[in-house]
Amino acid sequence: METINKFRALVKKIKAYVYVLQLCGWDSNTEAPRGSFPRRAEMLGEISKVLFQLQTEQSTQDVVNELYSKREELDPLLRREVEKAKKDLDKVIKIPEDEFVEYQKIIQLAQISWQDAKEKSDFEIFKPSLQQIFDYNKKFVGYFNTGMKPYDVMLDDYEEGMTMVEFDAFFNVLRNELVPFVKEVLKVKPERKDDFILAFYDKENQEKFCDYLIDVLAFDRDRGLMKKSVHPFTWNTSPEDVRFTTRYLENFVFSSIFAAIHELGHATYEQQIDPKWNDTLLNGGTSMGIHESQSRFYENTIGRSLEFWQVHYPKFQELFPEQTKDVSVEDFYKAVNKVEASFIRVEADELTYPMHIMVRYEIEKMLFNEEVKVEELPTLWNKMMVEYLGIEPKNDAEGVLQDVHWSSGLIGYFPTYVLGSAYAAQFYHTMKKELNIDEIISNNEIKKINLWLKEKIHQYGSSKSPRELLLEVTGEDFNPMYYVDYLKEKYTKLYLE
Ligand code: ZN
Repeated sequence: METINKFRALVKKIKAYVYVLQLCGWDSNTEAPRGSFPRRAEMLGEISKVLFQLQTEQSTQDVVNELYSKREELDPLLRREVEKAKKDLDKVIKIPEDEFVEYQKIIQLAQISWQDAKEKSDFEIFKPSLQQIFDYNKKFVGYFNTGMKPYDVMLDDYEEGMTMVEFDAFFNVLRNELVPFVKEVLKVKPERKDDFILAFYDKENQEKFCDYLIDVLAFDRDRGLMKKSVHPFTWNTSPEDVRFTTRYLENFVFSSIFAAIHELGHATYEQQIDPKWNDTLLNGGTSMGIHESQSRFYENTIGRSLEFWQVHYPKFQELFPEQTKDVSVEDFYKAVNKVEASFIRVEADELTYPMHIMVRYEIEKMLFNEEVKVEELPTLWNKMMVEYLGIEPKNDAEGVLQDVHWSSGLIGYFPTYVLGSAYAAQFYHTMKKELNIDEIISNNEIKKINLWLKEKIHQYGSSKSPRELLLEVTGEDFNPMYYVDYLKEKYTKLYLE
């Protein structure tokens, strides 16, 4: 069909423009000198304009709409692509241009007001921006006319197929099963050697250790690299070019190690996707939740296991002999799995982390559904922190203002973080039946785990939805009890035995 050829050519052309913008984006976030930004913004603005025109011009709309109208007759993979293209197109063309431009300005200003509010720890400064961001998003959702509940549209944007019904059920399980368990663990205050965590660790040796981890996790250096940035992230254009960053804090060495392992999880996923999807819309990881399941699996399940450190702690000691001279591998293992009730999400441990997300999900849902007013957020936030973790933030900076997400318009994003951990536990349950994971880690053969993930999950890119993957890999639909069981088993051993 001629329209299919036109569609293929269009997708490739759009990807070429995106490729250039992405490469510049990587540069902006890693190497580019500050002084280059005004000129860079000007040039990238021009390219973005051409891209926007290409994505929205009448001939593009005609191609997408024609194929969409015949989607029932298309091959299932092409149909999936066309449905994605239609969804993206509608998002761009259904919002009136003046409102879109206005919203971009609001976001720009919201970043500034949020930073200011956070610095002064004063929610009042950010309140008007936050109100506008939620109002605009509610309005935009109305234009899409999907027939879905408004907040469900936001959730589906980050995790295909997940709605409030599913997330409510998921978080109810966590509330009933984990909140009492976390409280029990938090009551235990074992005498442990962990003051070494906060010793001074020089950047140069931290970098050497992270570089060593690249090979431990069998990441392909020929198609990837590591740099540093303030906020660690993974970047990719295709499986042939996957990059990630970590950060080096000299008074908190765990930050660089676990950020590197986390990002290596994302990066391994991207590197192992079949390049045959490169010129389609089915390239890249399939969803935020599945992506996060991979990063968290590598970071927490592998990277915080005793087997892992039994093999790699000697290397760490070699680089930091002074800091670790009286620290056994068991001490180290316990320190990397230390549980604490804390205020800041990004610093939270594996066990208390889901509590932080529950607070955000519930507040966001209520706000979007107009069950709570913006001015009530700080109080509500603090109340929930007491309920779930037994601690009350002293101010807005360590409470409702801590995350950048809402100020950037990311609404519906938070739940995918914990969903990722839960998916990871479900995949892990299946993997354990087929692989001797402890032995693989002890033998320093993580490549075998990579291959399993490649075959079952990674190779498919986004040609399969998250639910299809779960069902095909694990033989059942999403089941959060694997996550609950995983956490209870691990932390019972660490704290309650
Ligand atoms: Zn991540």
